[in-house]
Amino acid sequence: MKVLVLNCGSSSLKYQLIDMDNESVIAKGLCERIGIEGSKLTHKPTGKDTFKKEAPMPTHTEAIKLVMDALMDPEHGVIKDTSEISAIGHRVLHGGSKFTESTVVDEKVKQAIRDCFDLGPLHNPANLMGIEACEEAMPGTPNVAVFDTTFGMSMPEKAYMYAIPHEYYDKYSIRRYGFHGTSHMFVSGEVLKFCHLDPEKGKVIVCHLGNGGSISASIGGKCVDTSMGLTPLEGLIMGTRSGDIDPAVVQFICNKEGRDVNDVLNMLNKKSGVLGMSGGVSSDFRDIEAARAEGNRLAGVALDAFIYRVVKYIGAYTAAMNGVDAIAFTAGVGENDIKTRKRICENLSYLGVKIDDERNNVRGEARVISADDSKVQVVLYPTNEELAIARETVRLVG
Ligand code: AMP
Repeated sequence: MKVLVLNCGSSSLKYQLIDMDNESVIAKGLCERIGIEGSKLTHKPTGKDTFKKEAPMPTHTEAIKLVMDALMDPEHGVIKDTSEISAIGHRVLHGGSKFTESTVVDEKVKQAIRDCFDLGPLHNPANLMGIEACEEAMPGTPNVAVFDTTFGMSMPEKAYMYAIPHEYYDKYSIRRYGFHGTSHMFVSGEVLKFCHLDPEKGKVIVCHLGNGGSISASIGGKCVDTSMGLTPLEGLIMGTRSGDIDPAVVQFICNKEGRDVNDVLNMLNKKSGVLGMSGGVSSDFRDIEAARAEGNRLAGVALDAFIYRVVKYIGAYTAAMNGVDAIAFTAGVGENDIKTRKRICENLSYLGVKIDDERNNVRGEARVISADDSKVQVVLYPTNEELAIARETVRLVG
């Protein structure tokens, strides 16, 4: 069974066609600058040359048509007909409190995604456009919505409720949802098996450290807490996001500089994190590390603060679960940054964590990186959100 996985951003569309009989990628690619001049498709069929095409893509509908043409092209295509695609799995950012699970798309589901535009203003409209474009291009082929928020829906109330008047939950569903849910679901589930933990009781902390970052605590693969909140702004220090902050800072800056809340929130989302803390060096952790190595003090502070916050969350989540069996690192920094993993683990010796330097000297492959006598297993486990979405799709329509 072949499943097409789509991840639509406001001006981009990433896709993968996966053969679910052996979970192999048949082709993948990206449409960039949708709705902007200079739209471009990059199509990478497995085992064949990469194909690039510049063509107008005023909306996601044209982008999907170009993807379909590329997939069926006699030269760089991988299928003969769209009927070979059994289903389409869509990454949808926000499912609000309506969705506790992935779901097959129908008119009601589309309306529910629309109802969450306020909660995911950049992503949800694009996600819906992707779904509608597929309905047009492949009528009758089932679409499945896999929400970034559903993993967090198993959190208990004490973890997801904000300590604000209850009326805001009743009126607007204001609560902590958590994001990167597909990644946390995939990695926590895989780590249970990889580390031979009890499938019902295994306690796992997943550190998804990329440009965006979040940590989750799960027992038997069910989320009990996660660091992002109503929006992805809460939690860790990220590439450009501040993470946890006293909300009074917003009021203070508004009053001092005559700015409005939206403007300051934009600053907290796009100009803060290690980018802001380093005095504007970069949002990319490699640049921050290079600047620190060259003696840039603020870059060093930004990196120290990033690691410090991760260490604090791991401590908090170990307490929340009354223990931890495995700690997993994933995403760009988690999978590749040997030094940062080591520095985080050095602060976990109180848990009996012992990192093995030789095992830790690895990038991008699933591996236990703790010593045999470590009380907690530490693993590097590459995330694969596309495969997680494809598996959910097969589970629902296969
Ligand atoms: P992601 O959002 O998961 O794609 O992760 C992107 C982040 O991973 C960027 O900040 C990169 O600098 C970081 N990253 C990728 N490779 C490395 C590496 N070898 N060392 C440190 N950070 C890395």
